[in-house]
Amino acid sequence: METEQVKCLIIGSGPAGYTAAIYAGRANLSPVLYAGLQPGGQLTTTTEVENFPGYPAGIGGPELMEDLRKQAERFGADIRYGEATAADLSSSPYKITIDNEKVIEARTVIIATGATAKYLGLDDEKKYAGMGVSACATCDGFFYRKKVVAVVGGGDTACEEASYLAGLASKVYLIVRKPYLRASKVMQQRVFNNPKIEVLFEHNAVGLYGENGVEGVHLVKRRGEADEQSYDLPIDGFFLAIGHKPNSDIFKPWLETDEVGYILTEPGTPRTKLPGVFAAGDVADPHYRQAITAAASGCKAAIEVERYLLS
Ligand SMILES: Cc1cc2nc3c(=O)[nH]c(=O)nc-3n(C[C@H](O)[C@H](O)[C@H](O)COP(=O)(O)OP(=O)(O)OC[C@H]3O[C@@H](n4cnc5c(N)ncnc54)[C@H](O)[C@@H]3O)c2cc1C
Repeated sequence: METEQVKCLIIGSGPAGYTAAIYAGRANLSPVLYAGLQPGGQLTTTTEVENFPGYPAGIGGPELMEDLRKQAERFGADIRYGEATAADLSSSPYKITIDNEKVIEARTVIIATGATAKYLGLDDEKKYAGMGVSACATCDGFFYRKKVVAVVGGGDTACEEASYLAGLASKVYLIVRKPYLRASKVMQQRVFNNPKIEVLFEHNAVGLYGENGVEGVHLVKRRGEADEQSYDLPIDGFFLAIGHKPNSDIFKPWLETDEVGYILTEPGTPRTKLPGVFAAGDVADPHYRQAITAAASGCKAAIEVERYLLS
């Protein structure tokens, strides 16, 4: 198999990867970045980003990512199409296989492969993507001020998202499949004590409806085989909060991850347990999952790479 030696390999082209490439490029590290199956990352799937600093009027997601790419290229980052399909991090230089056909031997690796939100798998989730369906309350909640929204999920994240949205929306339905919440007691209390949140236990969302965006959700209330009731609930926004899948599978044999698959790093840094291997952005962040926090950790990872190579 063809091999190539590089000083700094960046895997992923979201805000974390591109920011790492900007910093690594300006530090003369000749970074090579593989963009993966979603060049530009998650933000390319959204229309309006209003909370990335520096854009008082907001900016389109694809446009923002295009700017970041150009900025990285301006400083010499070698941005390539291709997916990391295997990893051997047993010793340095670390070996990353691209598209099953080429091996990159890298002295340092920045893993910036992101995390993918889980959806219920309804066709309507795709149909109404960006038109009332969201997997990020922090990102999109502001668009639903004084409107009615539903959050799907029964864990801590769902309760957190519902509580956050209750500060903006006029009404929040929490759609829970089970007859109880899985969330911690504190989070449950926060939900139950909030007069704007109504918990719909033993409910399944089975579809969405609306002319030019979500206008409601088709629900099935189920209390056993014989007791099923279908009805429609008018809502303006449908928020998924049933978890994320960090894109860390190929690295798991070599790095520590939590039970969900998020790569564990030294607190406050992108350092993994392997010297010269760093994890930046959503792949290592179950808490914030924002473009700006991903970009910030990409910056930290590139600075770590520079210091590691100097030492
Ligand atoms: C619809 C939507 C709207 C959002 N709106 C906002 C918002 O308004 N404001 C905000 O701050 N955040 C928003 N977010 C969240 C934000 O997009 C993420 O927090 C951010 O993109 C994370 O950046 P990242 O660089 O860690 O990873 P990602 O953006 O997820 O990028 C991951 C990259 O890794 C690549 N990759 C994955 N696996 C491989 C592999 N094996 N080999 C090579 N490459 C690989 C992918 O192709 C992709 O380029 C939104 C998210 C979504 C889905």
